[in-house]
Amino acid sequence: MVRMADNSYRDIIDSIVQLYVADDRPWLVGFSGGKDSTMLASLIFNAVLTVPTAQRKKPIAVLCTDTRVEIPAIAEIVEGTLSRMYKFSQQKELNIEVNLLKPPPEQSFWVNIIGRGYPPPNRTFRWCTQRLKIDPVTVFVNQRLGHWGEAILHLGARRAESSSRAQTMAGRESRNNLLRHPDLPRVWVSNPIEFLTTEEVWAYLLQKQNPWGSDNRILYKLYTNASNGECPIQIDTSTPSCGNSRFGCWTCTVVDRDKASEGLLAAGDERMEHLIEFRETLLEFRDPDNGWRDNRRMNGNEGPGPLHIKGRRELLKRLLKLQEETSMILITSEELLLIQQLWKAARSPDDGWGVSRILNKQRGVVMNSDLNELNRLREMEEEVAQELNIRADALRRMLAKVEEYSESHRAHGLPDDLLNILRDDLYCNALQNKTPTIN
Ligand code: SF4
Repeated sequence: MVRMADNSYRDIIDSIVQLYVADDRPWLVGFSGGKDSTMLASLIFNAVLTVPTAQRKKPIAVLCTDTRVEIPAIAEIVEGTLSRMYKFSQQKELNIEVNLLKPPPEQSFWVNIIGRGYPPPNRTFRWCTQRLKIDPVTVFVNQRLGHWGEAILHLGARRAESSSRAQTMAGRESRNNLLRHPDLPRVWVSNPIEFLTTEEVWAYLLQKQNPWGSDNRILYKLYTNASNGECPIQIDTSTPSCGNSRFGCWTCTVVDRDKASEGLLAAGDERMEHLIEFRETLLEFRDPDNGWRDNRRMNGNEGPGPLHIKGRRELLKRLLKLQEETSMILITSEELLLIQQLWKAARSPDDGWGVSRILNKQRGVVMNSDLNELNRLREMEEEVAQELNIRADALRRMLAKVEEYSESHRAHGLPDDLLNILRDDLYCNALQNKTPTIN
């Protein structure tokens, strides 16, 4: 094991302290629970400890994201660490708060896949990082910047970890060794461990106990059986891909093999057995050859499209079964209601009862609704659709789409979505007109 010279990390701590006393700008600290961000947080806590208590005025917010499909053992460790960080900060009056940021239910992994029909992500369509990781951080930072003005964001990015990251870091506007954030212009980025090697990071973590008290040997053990690399806290699109992730989501279909999950199973975490199997199910649903996807894209063009409604129903059934097998809460009631809403706007739309029927069958849970009212509504929809000379399905999908947008208080994208539904309607009419009649 490489030993890191004491003066090297003292130099880093000194430069962090200089930055601390230089101005009043608040700090944000990206924390993923992986080795690099653990070292970063440890250095920052140690730096603030050297500042006299009366001068610890700077607000510091540790930011961690929880995609809600995190590998359970890792999520437990991260939550434990955040809780210890918070208590330690309180005891020592460090003025450091911790924040576990989650995507809102309407952007959760399951609402996007089972509700909207997004195919499980791959390298070319990696829709998840933005929605599950970047957006929650951006929302938090923008809310804080509203009354902060400018802020400094500390990251545990290292040049040795990614050459593309090194290029991006090299190309940005800088001021006093801080880089302007590419998407948040009032945020300046600091990378205190930028030039350290992986060996130096481990040397520090294994030689020094974290100020908040947790032991890094557990972290080291988690890394032991897998390749290097982690899904770092995602702050912008230039952050290295989650590919080769050590600490990613258990659902991750971007990596070829989920070595973290496999390693945990080999180490005796039995929860991982069913989760690893379900990841295979996601791969099955993503492959267009298996018949779970439309053969038209969302914009109507030819090519593998979203999961069709039967595929979404089947995936929900399998997810609920997984929930029973693992006794873990994998999907919430709020997500189920959102999925129901989205199914009404899908091609071959659901009648508004699909989720309820699946739940009734699998769990004996009844969702509230009024059948008579629904039937009256259906009749009215048929009449209006006839007057407009479109199919009733198309009208229902359009109504559901408008409802979906109005619930999220936005209108951007609605005209395009409505247009796509009308295109589908034309396409279906053309198909029907082509179908030969049998005498
Ligand atoms: S770990 Fe995989 S599924 Fe999770 S956000 Fe990263 S790329 Fe997406």
